Amino acid sequence: KRSMACSRFEYVKSFEQDDSILPNVWIVIRIDGKKFHKFSKTHDFEKPNDENALNVMNAAATAVLQEFRDVVLAYGQSDEYSFVFRKETTAFKRRSAKLLTYVTSLFSTSYVMHWSKWMNLPLAYAPCFDGRVVLYPSEQNLKDYLSWRQADVHVNNLYNTAFWKLVLEKGLTNQEAEAKLRGTFSADKNELLFQEFGINYNNLPAMYRKGTILLRKRVIVGEKSRQAIVPLHEDLISSHFWKQHTEILGKYVPGTYDAPVPLPRLVE
Ligand code: ATP
Ligand code: ATP
Ligand code: MG
Ligand code: MG
Ligand code: MG
Ligand code: MG
Ligand code: MG
Repeated sequence: KRSMACSRFEYVKSFEQDDSILPNVWIVIRIDGKKFHKFSKTHDFEKPNDENALNVMNAAATAVLQEFRDVVLAYGQSDEYSFVFRKETTAFKRRSAKLLTYVTSLFSTSYVMHWSKWMNLPLAYAPCFDGRVVLYPSEQNLKDYLSWRQADVHVNNLYNTAFWKLVLEKGLTNQEAEAKLRGTFSADKNELLFQEFGINYNNLPAMYRKGTILLRKRVIVGEKSRQAIVPLHEDLISSHFWKQHTEILGKYVPGTYDAPVPLPRLVE
């Protein structure tokens, strides 16, 4: 590097602010697509859930986990993804802006790189993502954060599933469908789906109902086992999930995740 040392301009460097994150907290970075309501229209996403568009999101998130070994869990739904860094991470000296901008830009560029693997239409314009850093000091706070995101996908997906059934199959206008669903509870929407469309909501694909959890696991491939980034579509609100995947919150030593799980569909 060419040094500016000794130049009379160097003092400007001192205007930069220290943004290192305090120690011993979970660092969560959440990215979210900018105006994806419009982006999904422009690119003909299937409503309410375009499976391939979710696959692009999952592939981009997998690229982030491949690069940042200290991410112990990622959770995605719709146009958003949350990345959880282990508490002890020293990546980029815990500098907030570095972590946030690297994750957000790597996610964005990876989204573009993986696009054509899953989608038929070419990109009409460059998608972009906002990002934020949130710190959680306790296990309970972190679990509640992830539960909050998963509850969000449940509420939205139940509503959207009912809404699009009314529009696409019953021929209601958007306004009529909205009016019909206004003020209804979850149980009402479940009932409507079952009575009018013969749909048992719980039988819809788990990825739509639960979102996608990415974990590092040792998986069995043929005779051998290897580390992989594995997508799961489980309920993480229940304590069962945290009992099954104790390595997430435990002291993490790279390369020691070895709970063998059967190999599910890999997102790569
Ligand atoms: P860091 O991740 O810390 O930024 P870095 O390798 O990117 O590491 P920089 O100080 O940002 O380090 O320097 C960028 C380097 O990229 C330059 O030293 C040079 O080697 C290379 N580089 C960037 N742009 C060009 C270019 N247009 N032509 C040739 N080399 C380039
Ligand atoms: P903002 O810029 O404020 O985030 P937004 O339009 O992206 O605005 P969000 O609340 O982030 O608003 O919602 C994302 C929207 O993207 C959803 O409402 C949905 O319409 C669309 N969307 C995202 N992923 C999919 C998908 N896989 N299938 C269908 N639609 C999707
Ligand atoms: Mg550089
Ligand atoms: Mg540079
Ligand atoms: Mg938003
Ligand atoms: Mg968005
Ligand atoms: Mg969103």
